[in-house]
Amino acid sequence: MKITAKFAGKCATCTEKIAVGETVEWQPGSRSSQHVVCHARIEALYATARAAMTDAERLTDRGYSVDEVTTLSTRERGEIIAEHINEAVTNVLLAERMARING
Ligand SMILES: [Zn+2]
Repeated sequence: MKITAKFAGKCATCTEKIAVGETVEWQPGSRSSQHVVCHARIEALYATARAAMTDAERLTDRGYSVDEVTTLSTRERGEIIAEHINEAVTNVLLAERMARING
């Protein structure tokens, strides 16, 4: 949800400053917030990562055979798939940070 920052801080995504009075994206219960632009970018990265592979391909990529997949619970499958997607997004963000540091 979008809120107005009451305190100065750092964006959880890009680590740049967030100023008091700036509109930021914040999840209720979270201690961190993000620039609205950074949040939109993360959402786009997740959408791209989700569309890049099928769930079956993600499980195979993790080393599960078709037989093994059928023994997993829906929750286990969901966790493995979510972890795979998170990793894909994290890798893009890390590569961007390294490029900024080295560039
Ligand atoms: Zn940011």
